[in-house]
Amino acid sequence: MILMNDFKGEAPEMKQAMLDAVRRVIDSGWYILGPEVQAFEQKFAAFSQIPHAVSVGNGMDAIEIALRALDIGVGDEVVTTPMTAFATVLAVLRAGATPVLADIDPATGLLSPVSVKRCLTPRTRALLLVHLYGQVRDMDQWQALCNEAGVKLIEDCAQSHGARWNGCTAGSFGVAGAYSFYPTKNLGALGDGGALVTRDEALATRAASLRNYGQSERYIHPEIGLNSRLDEIQAAILAVRLDSLEASTEIRRSIARRYRDGITNSRVQLLAPPQQAASHVYHLFVLLSPHRDALQAHLKAQGVQALLHYPMPVHHQSSCADIRRDPTGLPGSESHAKHCLSLPCHPQMSDSDVQRVIDAVNNFAG
Ligand SMILES: *Cc1c(COP(=O)(O)O)cnc(C)c1O
Repeated sequence: MILMNDFKGEAPEMKQAMLDAVRRVIDSGWYILGPEVQAFEQKFAAFSQIPHAVSVGNGMDAIEIALRALDIGVGDEVVTTPMTAFATVLAVLRAGATPVLADIDPATGLLSPVSVKRCLTPRTRALLLVHLYGQVRDMDQWQALCNEAGVKLIEDCAQSHGARWNGCTAGSFGVAGAYSFYPTKNLGALGDGGALVTRDEALATRAASLRNYGQSERYIHPEIGLNSRLDEIQAAILAVRLDSLEASTEIRRSIARRYRDGITNSRVQLLAPPQQAASHVYHLFVLLSPHRDALQAHLKAQGVQALLHYPMPVHHQSSCADIRRDPTGLPGSESHAKHCLSLPCHPQMSDSDVQRVIDAVNNFAG
């Protein structure tokens, strides 16, 4: 079976480097908020070309902490997308704010500016923009829209590690970017992890306090925070894995190029190509098909795992039935959820794996 992710297939050198990192932490005798976390934060900030990175427990907390550090909470509205990991919207709810769902552009799966504008009200404080599947697009337009509307731009970068648009990295376009290091992400830990990146030093300082019980100095708590810390072992592992992120992104891009060139079946439709070579990191390679369920079953029978991102838009979750949304509805998201299918696209795939996936898609007869 060609899997969506194949961690067991990682290079032995990578496994050894991670074991060495873990041993170093064990030998240090220091496990929380120490030198490994500090070193990784600096390394990730430098990689992202953003002055500050504050590591946290996971990607969802990174969003919640960004909102709380911006004083966005009860009574405030945050516009975001229903076509995302549930954590995006859950983070807004956890911050006490009100999510408002705008529809997507069917060509990309990303938020539609027209729908976002319909969702703006005097209470809107932020746009939480998700770089879905690893795509960063139209950032000048999003910045202009947010400036005109007087709302903060926050980026959900959980799928877009290292994506660049006009030379700037995901997370640098808005006031803050939230990263997840969940194992399946393009930069993944061997457990949970996340980070908030920002150019704003005061925001970074507040986020660092919020992640650690709202503590300003030892045993002094000027505000009500969380316990959301990256641990030393995960930080050490992430520092090792960051070294090969650029190379693994290039492999993902070359797989995507082969899919784009090789998939010719008229029963499937590809999403719009990236605007710039560096602006898509292919966390997921997603196609659309009116025969999606049959195609998924066909691929499985041919030894190819394919998954759905996402099978249900957030407003169809029973816990979110009365969530606020574009008053004209969210038909783009509903259609996308019915038709989307993600193909395996990861650095452990061989050339022949990629060809097998292409052949399996092309010989699907509907
Ligand atoms: C994975 C993901 C998250 C949540 O990250 P966790 O580390 O699992 O909390 C948030 N948003 C998006 C778009 C994601 O893909």
